[in-house]
Amino acid sequence: MSMSRDLSAAAVDLLLGATCVACDEPGPALCPGCLSRLGRRPARTWPSPVPSGLPPVFAAATYDDVARAALVAHKEHGILSLSRPLGQKLGWAVLGLLAEAPRRRIGVVGIVPAPSARHTVRNRGHDPLLRMTRHAVVELRRAGVSAELAQVLRVARRVADQSGLTSEQRAVNLQGAFAIRRRVPTDPVVVVDDVITTGATVAETARALRQHGVDVIGAAVVAATARRLPPGR
Ligand SMILES: [Zn+2]
Repeated sequence: MSMSRDLSAAAVDLLLGATCVACDEPGPALCPGCLSRLGRRPARTWPSPVPSGLPPVFAAATYDDVARAALVAHKEHGILSLSRPLGQKLGWAVLGLLAEAPRRRIGVVGIVPAPSARHTVRNRGHDPLLRMTRHAVVELRRAGVSAELAQVLRVARRVADQSGLTSEQRAVNLQGAFAIRRRVPTDPVVVVDDVITTGATVAETARALRQHGVDVIGAAVVAATARRLPPGR
Protein backbone atom coordinates (compact mmCIF):
# COMPACT_ATOMS: atom_id res chain seq x y z
CA MET A 1 0.00 0.00 0.00
CA SER A 2 1.44 3.36 -0.92
CA MET A 3 2.09 5.72 1.94
CA SER A 4 1.37 8.86 -0.09
CA ARG A 5 -1.99 7.49 -1.17
CA ASP A 6 -2.67 6.63 2.46
CA LEU A 7 -1.86 10.18 3.51
CA SER A 8 -3.95 11.76 0.78
CA ALA A 9 -6.83 9.48 1.78
CA ALA A 10 -6.41 10.69 5.34
CA ALA A 11 -6.48 14.29 4.08
CA VAL A 12 -9.68 13.62 2.15
CA ASP A 13 -11.03 12.07 5.32
CA LEU A 14 -10.33 15.25 7.25
CA LEU A 15 -12.03 17.40 4.63
CA LEU A 16 -15.05 15.25 3.85
CA GLY A 17 -15.32 13.69 7.28
CA ALA A 18 -16.63 17.02 8.52
CA THR A 19 -20.17 15.86 7.78
CA CYS A 20 -21.99 12.54 8.03
CA VAL A 21 -21.64 10.66 4.73
CA ALA A 22 -25.26 9.50 4.96
CA CYS A 23 -27.20 12.59 6.11
CA ASP A 24 -24.75 15.55 5.89
CA GLU A 25 -25.08 16.27 9.61
CA PRO A 26 -21.93 18.16 10.69
CA GLY A 27 -19.61 15.99 12.79
CA PRO A 28 -18.11 12.53 12.38
CA ALA A 29 -18.24 10.60 9.09
CA LEU A 30 -21.19 8.68 10.50
CA CYS A 31 -23.36 10.68 12.91
CA PRO A 32 -24.68 8.85 16.00
CA GLY A 33 -28.16 8.61 14.46
CA CYS A 34 -26.99 6.99 11.23
CA LEU A 35 -24.53 4.81 13.14
CA SER A 36 -27.36 3.38 15.25
CA ARG A 37 -29.52 2.88 12.15
CA LEU A 38 -26.67 0.85 10.69
CA GLY A 39 -27.46 -2.48 12.24
CA ARG A 40 -29.02 -2.58 15.65
CA ARG A 41 -29.11 -6.34 15.79
CA PRO A 42 -27.32 -8.77 13.45
CA ALA A 43 -29.66 -11.22 11.75
CA ARG A 44 -29.38 -14.26 9.56
CA THR A 45 -29.90 -13.52 5.89
CA TRP A 46 -30.68 -15.54 2.76
CA PRO A 47 -29.96 -14.55 -0.82
CA SER A 48 -32.64 -15.63 -3.28
CA PRO A 49 -31.93 -18.07 -4.80
CA VAL A 50 -29.58 -19.56 -2.20
CA PRO A 51 -26.36 -20.63 -3.98
CA SER A 52 -25.30 -24.20 -3.32
CA GLY A 53 -22.73 -24.55 -0.57
CA LEU A 54 -23.62 -21.22 1.04
CA PRO A 55 -22.89 -21.44 4.79
CA PRO A 56 -25.12 -19.57 7.29
CA VAL A 57 -24.71 -15.81 6.78
CA PHE A 58 -25.27 -13.09 9.38
CA ALA A 59 -25.59 -9.43 8.41
CA ALA A 60 -25.25 -6.45 10.73
CA ALA A 61 -27.52 -4.29 8.59
CA THR A 62 -29.79 -4.15 5.60
CA TYR A 63 -28.13 -2.57 2.56
CA ASP A 64 -30.21 0.61 2.78
CA ASP A 65 -29.22 4.25 2.08
CA VAL A 66 -27.14 4.56 5.24
CA ALA A 67 -25.24 1.28 4.73
CA ARG A 68 -24.66 2.07 1.06
CA ALA A 69 -23.42 5.62 1.79
CA ALA A 70 -21.06 4.41 4.52
CA LEU A 71 -19.63 1.44 2.61
CA VAL A 72 -19.15 3.40 -0.63
CA ALA A 73 -17.55 6.36 1.18
CA HIS A 74 -15.15 3.98 2.91
CA LYS A 75 -14.39 1.80 -0.09
CA GLU A 76 -14.40 4.20 -3.02
CA HIS A 77 -13.68 7.58 -1.40
CA GLY A 78 -11.19 6.41 1.20
CA ILE A 79 -13.00 7.85 4.23
CA LEU A 80 -10.81 5.82 6.55
CA SER A 81 -12.43 6.98 9.80
CA LEU A 82 -15.29 4.66 8.79
CA SER A 83 -13.10 1.52 9.04
CA ARG A 84 -13.65 1.31 12.77
CA PRO A 85 -17.45 1.76 13.03
CA LEU A 86 -18.01 -0.51 10.02
CA GLY A 87 -15.54 -3.07 11.38
CA GLN A 88 -17.31 -3.05 14.74
CA LYS A 89 -20.63 -3.79 13.03
CA LEU A 90 -18.92 -6.60 11.14
CA GLY A 91 -17.63 -7.94 14.46
CA TRP A 92 -21.18 -7.92 15.83
CA ALA A 93 -22.37 -9.89 12.82
CA VAL A 94 -19.69 -12.51 13.56
CA LEU A 95 -20.88 -12.61 17.18
CA GLY A 96 -24.45 -13.13 15.97
CA LEU A 97 -23.31 -16.06 13.86
CA LEU A 98 -21.26 -17.62 16.67
CA ALA A 99 -24.19 -17.28 19.09
CA GLU A 100 -26.38 -19.34 16.75
CA ALA A 101 -23.72 -21.83 15.68
CA PRO A 102 -24.30 -25.34 17.00
CA ARG A 103 -22.87 -25.55 20.49
CA ARG A 104 -19.33 -26.81 20.42
CA ARG A 105 -15.98 -25.88 21.78
CA ILE A 106 -14.34 -23.30 19.58
CA GLY A 107 -10.75 -22.50 20.44
CA VAL A 108 -9.41 -19.82 18.17
CA VAL A 109 -11.65 -18.76 15.31
CA GLY A 110 -10.01 -17.54 12.10
CA ILE A 111 -11.61 -14.54 10.40
CA VAL A 112 -11.11 -14.91 6.65
CA PRO A 113 -11.81 -11.88 4.45
CA ALA A 114 -13.26 -12.75 1.04
CA PRO A 115 -10.33 -12.18 -1.33
CA SER A 116 -10.18 -9.13 -3.58
CA ALA A 117 -8.19 -8.98 -6.81
CA ARG A 118 -4.76 -7.44 -6.30
CA HIS A 119 -5.28 -4.87 -9.07
CA THR A 120 -8.53 -3.70 -7.42
CA VAL A 121 -6.72 -3.10 -4.13
CA ARG A 122 -3.88 -1.35 -5.98
CA ASN A 123 -6.26 0.94 -7.89
CA ARG A 124 -8.13 1.90 -4.72
CA GLY A 125 -4.89 2.42 -2.85
CA HIS A 126 -6.26 0.59 0.17
CA ASP A 127 -7.97 -2.63 1.13
CA PRO A 128 -11.28 -1.61 2.73
CA LEU A 129 -12.36 -5.12 3.73
CA LEU A 130 -9.02 -5.85 5.36
CA ARG A 131 -9.26 -2.61 7.36
CA MET A 132 -12.78 -3.46 8.54
CA THR A 133 -11.76 -7.04 9.35
CA ARG A 134 -8.92 -5.85 11.59
CA HIS A 135 -11.41 -3.77 13.60
CA ALA A 136 -13.86 -6.68 13.67
CA VAL A 137 -11.16 -8.89 15.21
CA VAL A 138 -10.53 -6.26 17.91
CA GLU A 139 -14.28 -6.12 18.61
CA LEU A 140 -14.49 -9.92 18.86
CA ARG A 141 -11.58 -10.07 21.30
CA ARG A 142 -13.23 -7.35 23.36
CA ALA A 143 -16.28 -9.61 23.52
CA GLY A 144 -14.12 -12.50 24.77
CA VAL A 145 -13.79 -14.44 21.49
CA SER A 146 -10.28 -15.62 20.58
CA ALA A 147 -10.24 -14.39 17.01
CA GLU A 148 -7.35 -14.20 14.57
CA LEU A 149 -7.22 -12.46 11.22
CA ALA A 150 -6.62 -15.22 8.65
CA GLN A 151 -5.99 -13.60 5.28
CA VAL A 152 -5.39 -16.92 3.58
CA LEU A 153 -7.07 -16.65 0.18
CA ARG A 154 -6.14 -14.93 -3.04
CA VAL A 155 -7.84 -14.43 -6.37
CA ALA A 156 -6.09 -16.98 -8.56
CA ARG A 157 -7.35 -15.87 -11.95
CA ARG A 158 -8.98 -12.91 -13.63
CA VAL A 159 -12.68 -12.51 -12.87
CA ALA A 160 -15.18 -10.18 -14.50
CA ASP A 161 -16.74 -7.31 -12.54
CA GLN A 162 -19.67 -8.86 -10.69
CA SER A 163 -22.00 -5.89 -11.01
CA GLY A 164 -24.55 -6.38 -13.76
CA LEU A 165 -24.25 -10.17 -13.68
CA THR A 166 -27.15 -12.43 -12.68
CA SER A 167 -26.69 -14.69 -9.68
CA GLU A 168 -26.02 -17.66 -11.98
CA GLN A 169 -23.46 -15.70 -14.01
CA ARG A 170 -21.79 -14.56 -10.79
CA ALA A 171 -21.44 -18.13 -9.57
CA VAL A 172 -19.89 -19.20 -12.90
CA ASN A 173 -17.64 -16.13 -12.96
CA LEU A 174 -16.18 -17.05 -9.57
CA GLN A 175 -16.00 -20.83 -9.93
CA GLY A 176 -12.55 -21.96 -8.81
CA ALA A 177 -11.32 -18.36 -8.74
CA PHE A 178 -9.97 -18.38 -5.18
CA ALA A 179 -6.88 -20.23 -4.02
CA ILE A 180 -5.21 -20.73 -0.66
CA ARG A 181 -2.15 -18.50 -0.43
CA ARG A 182 -0.89 -19.80 2.87
CA ARG A 183 -1.71 -22.41 5.45
CA VAL A 184 -4.87 -21.67 7.40
CA PRO A 185 -3.56 -21.09 10.94
CA THR A 186 -6.86 -21.67 12.70
CA ASP A 187 -9.78 -24.00 12.43
CA PRO A 188 -12.71 -23.32 12.37
CA VAL A 189 -13.09 -20.08 10.43
CA VAL A 190 -15.70 -17.43 9.65
CA VAL A 191 -15.74 -15.75 6.22
CA VAL A 192 -16.32 -11.99 6.21
CA ASP A 193 -17.27 -9.57 3.43
CA ASP A 194 -18.71 -6.07 3.14
CA VAL A 195 -22.01 -6.80 1.35
CA ILE A 196 -23.86 -9.97 0.39
CA THR A 197 -25.97 -9.74 -2.76
CA THR A 198 -26.31 -13.08 -4.55
CA GLY A 199 -24.04 -14.95 -2.12
CA ALA A 200 -21.72 -16.07 -4.95
CA THR A 201 -18.58 -14.66 -3.35
CA VAL A 202 -19.30 -16.10 0.09
CA ALA A 203 -20.23 -19.50 -1.37
CA GLU A 204 -17.06 -19.66 -3.47
CA THR A 205 -14.89 -18.50 -0.55
CA ALA A 206 -16.38 -21.22 1.66
CA ARG A 207 -15.87 -23.80 -1.08
CA ALA A 208 -12.20 -22.90 -1.50
CA LEU A 209 -11.64 -23.25 2.25
CA ARG A 210 -13.55 -26.51 2.61
CA GLN A 211 -11.60 -27.97 -0.29
CA HIS A 212 -8.57 -27.68 2.00
CA GLY A 213 -10.39 -29.36 4.85
CA VAL A 214 -11.10 -26.12 6.73
CA ASP A 215 -14.24 -26.07 8.86
CA VAL A 216 -16.31 -23.02 7.84
CA ILE A 217 -18.79 -22.05 10.59
CA GLY A 218 -20.46 -19.46 8.37
CA ALA A 219 -20.11 -15.94 7.10
CA ALA A 220 -20.70 -12.42 8.38
CA VAL A 221 -21.20 -9.22 6.40
CA VAL A 222 -21.79 -5.58 7.21
CA ALA A 223 -24.90 -5.35 5.05
CA ALA A 224 -27.21 -7.60 3.05
CA THR A 225 -29.29 -6.79 0.02
CA ALA A 226 -30.64 -10.26 0.58
CA ARG A 227 -33.86 -11.14 2.33
CA ARG A 228 -34.00 -11.67 6.04
CA LEU A 229 -36.55 -14.43 6.04
CA PRO A 230 -35.80 -18.07 5.28
CA PRO A 231 -36.78 -19.16 1.76
CA GLY A 232 -40.39 -20.25 1.56
CA ARG A 233 -41.67 -17.83 4.21
ZN1 LIG B 1 -26.02 10.86 9.63
